[in-house]
Amino acid sequence: MSRIRILSEHLSNQIAAGEVVERPASVVKELIENSIDAGANQVDVEIEGSGVRLMRVVDNGCGMIEDDVLLCLERHATSKIQEESQLGAIATLGFRGEALPSIGSVSRMTIISRDQEKETGTLVELRYGALHAVHEQGCSRGTVMEVRNLFGNVPARKKFLKSARTETYHVEEVVKNQAIAMPEVGFSLRVDERTVLDCPSGSDLETRLRYIFRYDGPLLSLEHSGAAATDSIQVGGYLLLPEAAPNRSARLRILVNGRAVQDRMIRNAVTEGLHGFLMKGYQPAGAVLLSISPELVDVNVHPAKREIRFRDHRQVYQLLKTVVKSAIQKHQEHARAQLFTPAQKSINENQERLSENLIMAEPAAKPFQRPLDSAIGIARVQNKHVVPDEQPPVMEKPTATERPEKVSEHVFSAPFFQHEPTAEKRDTEFAGLRLVGQLFSLYLLCEKGDRFIVIDQHAAHERILYGQMKRDYLKKDIPRQGLLFPVTVELGPDHMETMERYHDDLQSLGLEIDYFGETTWVIKSVPAVISVLDPISMLHDILDMLYESKGSRKQVVAGVIDDLLASMACKAAIKAGNVLSPQEMISLLQQMEESDVFSHCPHGRPVVKTFLQPEVEKWFHRHGG
Ligand code: ADP
Ligand code: MG
Repeated sequence: MSRIRILSEHLSNQIAAGEVVERPASVVKELIENSIDAGANQVDVEIEGSGVRLMRVVDNGCGMIEDDVLLCLERHATSKIQEESQLGAIATLGFRGEALPSIGSVSRMTIISRDQEKETGTLVELRYGALHAVHEQGCSRGTVMEVRNLFGNVPARKKFLKSARTETYHVEEVVKNQAIAMPEVGFSLRVDERTVLDCPSGSDLETRLRYIFRYDGPLLSLEHSGAAATDSIQVGGYLLLPEAAPNRSARLRILVNGRAVQDRMIRNAVTEGLHGFLMKGYQPAGAVLLSISPELVDVNVHPAKREIRFRDHRQVYQLLKTVVKSAIQKHQEHARAQLFTPAQKSINENQERLSENLIMAEPAAKPFQRPLDSAIGIARVQNKHVVPDEQPPVMEKPTATERPEKVSEHVFSAPFFQHEPTAEKRDTEFAGLRLVGQLFSLYLLCEKGDRFIVIDQHAAHERILYGQMKRDYLKKDIPRQGLLFPVTVELGPDHMETMERYHDDLQSLGLEIDYFGETTWVIKSVPAVISVLDPISMLHDILDMLYESKGSRKQVVAGVIDDLLASMACKAAIKAGNVLSPQEMISLLQQMEESDVFSHCPHGRPVVKTFLQPEVEKWFHRHGG
């Protein structure tokens, strides 16, 4: 006798349920997806007892006629696809025809549905897969799905459920994801008779996202620009500013054609795009909405449809990265305009300020080549290896008249003071910002209109130097500073090997190092911006970083170059504790304004923090008069 049997329908439904119905949240997900596919513009979800006791989803979609209410409970019954060719381009959220029979096999399920054209509806009741009742039922148009006693007949599965709090959290996540994917659809969620979410229909993505994320700070808007745009893939969505305080909802949600998916590649593309803006340990947060021609993506790779596969994942990766990068750039320009444009006053006054700014920028200083200031200049002098200028830098801050006339092209070179501080006003104003002073020898305090602005001097300078070095590096033109007395350095075997391997790359970083013999090398020049640093320990740091990275030489250099430049910038930047004169602070502001990026230090820490006047007034309970 043959030992192989065909499984009963009930058993195979239960097996399918094992994949599709993992927990209450999976049921809610399938039911919501059906409501969306039915064209609903309002979906109301209710759960009790973390969903195990009751899940109810009410929609105003197309509804079903009596025959269909019965049919939808059959395995592989779907209205969404009919033939194989359609599998290659699925435009609905569902297509497997598995959800309802699976859910029905492990719960007590009631469907009440009324087709849009019909006067009455149908009620069907199912108890753990067995049909219990069917009759006509008066109801409003659309569908009500009720699922009770989930896993009532499979206690083993019930045991795998987590705490009520966790299960409820997952249900909330499902509703939130779908609410973000479809801002035009209204969603509500009640948990044990308490409304936890209520998103009105006809909303837009930004409003929806702010509501779900409980976030009212600045957003990076993701959109196509220029060459990045393609017809077959469109990117939309928003990212929270990377330093925004993370909260429970604020994580990265990825929605592809309206479907919430987990996708490492997309997450990586976003993280990569945020490089230099995301602090260590911070995750990107926001929503990435991809709309992609259905034939370019395979959604049929996971039973719960949580994962997808792109036909050309590299294209998607590149596109997303570009879009994120350009969003940051746009944010940069916006932030610059906010911070550095003179507050709108009368036209005359604007004109005046404009010419004032021109005066300030006038001396033929090369942008980005300007070293920061005398305070930093002083710090630099501490490096005795550096070739002294014609006019050795003095410890006192040089006044305008004492300023050395002739300056070389290097670190101490360009004049620090951009203008003669004749009037008091010019000392403390720049591009509409009024400098209030320095706090804790670390923060610049500024005022502008109704805003109180705090700037981290170290982070700001670090970003400026990093930008400058990166640009020079890409141009293969890092200005060097020759050492007056070349420094010899002994290398251990590991560093010896690393040095031989990366000698040329170090050269292009501005480090001129020659082999001397045995284990000895000679440092002849260093990158000018960091000539303040001790060349030996800097070289060891760099060799460490190179040594610890794996991969081909090209990969290693590409991988560590940003870190190297960032670490050099960090070491060379003005420190916390450097007391700055007003002119030095103005100079820093000026350099910030001129740099491509100023909002975050290369490690992703924010540089500028703004408080609105009403906020400050609240500290003193002054609001409302
Ligand atoms: P799938 O969604 O993969 O088609 P399901 O088992 O989830 O499979 O649903 C089976 C069918 O039942 C659907 O194809 C649809 O025709 C119908 N259906 C399910 N839920 C609804 C609903 N809320 N409104 C209208 N029709 C529905
Ligand atoms: Mg479905």
